[in-house]
Amino acid sequence: MNQPVDVDVLVIGGGIVGLTAAIAMGARNYSVGVLDAGVLHVDEVISNTRVYAINSSSKQLLQELHVWQHLKASSSAPFNAMHVWDSTTDAAIDFNARDIAAPMLGTIVTESALKQALLNTIATYPNIRLWPNCPIDAIHRESEMMHVSNQEGVWQSSLLMIADGAQSAARTLLGVSVTTWPYNHHALVATVNTTKPHDNTAWQVFHPDGPLAFLPLSTTHQCSIVWSTEPKKVQYLMQLPEEAFNNEVSIAFGHRLGDVSLASTRHQFPLHMRHVKEYVGPHWLFLGDAAHTIHPLAGLGLNLGFADIRSFISQLETPGSYFAPKKLRAYQRQRKHAVWQSIILMEALKRLFSHTTAPLPAIRGVALKLCNQLTLIKRLMMEHVG
Ligand SMILES: Cc1cc2nc3c(=O)[nH]c(=O)nc-3n(C[C@H](O)[C@H](O)[C@H](O)COP(=O)(O)OP(=O)(O)OC[C@H]3O[C@@H](n4cnc5c(N)ncnc54)[C@H](O)[C@@H]3O)c2cc1C
Repeated sequence: MNQPVDVDVLVIGGGIVGLTAAIAMGARNYSVGVLDAGVLHVDEVISNTRVYAINSSSKQLLQELHVWQHLKASSSAPFNAMHVWDSTTDAAIDFNARDIAAPMLGTIVTESALKQALLNTIATYPNIRLWPNCPIDAIHRESEMMHVSNQEGVWQSSLLMIADGAQSAARTLLGVSVTTWPYNHHALVATVNTTKPHDNTAWQVFHPDGPLAFLPLSTTHQCSIVWSTEPKKVQYLMQLPEEAFNNEVSIAFGHRLGDVSLASTRHQFPLHMRHVKEYVGPHWLFLGDAAHTIHPLAGLGLNLGFADIRSFISQLETPGSYFAPKKLRAYQRQRKHAVWQSIILMEALKRLFSHTTAPLPAIRGVALKLCNQLTLIKRLMMEHVG
């Protein structure tokens, strides 16, 4: 490949956010290239265990891009209620779709199904080309074009949409720094069977050392669990024999869904807050985990990536070229502010539930009970995450 490949938009990273961004731009008739370090196939083993709680704005974006229509019904599960409680005081708060006059609060979707739906949608666009196994090595700007290269070749484009994930190589190549801190939690993710039905409800218990969530899957007695806790405890849980693990999860969850039994392998993810100091520069922008990673306790991370895409495509409605500096700056203004709000909210929730010294648990218990009575407050909370 001697001549540079010329595209209007070059997306770096073909994860869920990169593929969605490619479709959003392809649907607007731009020629799009996607470079990904991996195979760009669906990895059933890992991807079936990873699930996302998709909120209503994200679903709407995927519907507008005709991706939702490609999702297999059996791999998505709507949930219409959330039950959250504090293990120290047992105080709880319930959210119900009825409170916001919505048919559901969100949908749980497996990563494999979502990725497959994105790849199937891309197959209908002749103006989107994918380059798998193509990790980038260098980025530079030359006469108002960005050039990206590796051993396979060179690509040039007026706009780089960078979505190469939390460890973004593009971030390093462009010299963009991040604000970061560790959450001192790892997340253990697995699929489990339960002896009681999940009632299309998302469940989460907050322990002082971190939250344990049960997300309802399409089978009535199956959930995906996300247990975020101290790294040492996650190591211990990862190595426990299956029966002992089942017992630990059932106890930590207060047997709310009866007895739990493991139905998949266990995976763990270290958790860090990261937020880029610059979302944009001349002819480039960051989105998805390349721009921000947050604690999964509210299932917001991917939804923030979709909100990045929505924010940028709304700029395309304004006059000027798609890579105009003022559009990029407006995108940065919107996203920096909104993402900081979510980062602060996650930090506040994590800290609020970690205190065990009196009188904090008692105050927390009363506050939760009070919030549970106040439909208006609950509606505002649901609208923030929806
Ligand atoms: C335990 C856990 C539970 C979560 N639950 C939820 C949830 O319920 N709801 C929710 O909204 N979010 C959730 N999240 C967050 C969500 O997983 C991420 O926000 C989302 O996967 C980010 O997608 P992405 O496409 O930005 O990045 P990634 O999925 O990391 O994709 C990055 C892509 O870039 C490619 N790449 C990497 N390096 C290069 C390179 N050098 N050159 C080219 N390509 C490269 C990779 O191969 C990959 O395909 C959760 C996160 C965790 C850890």
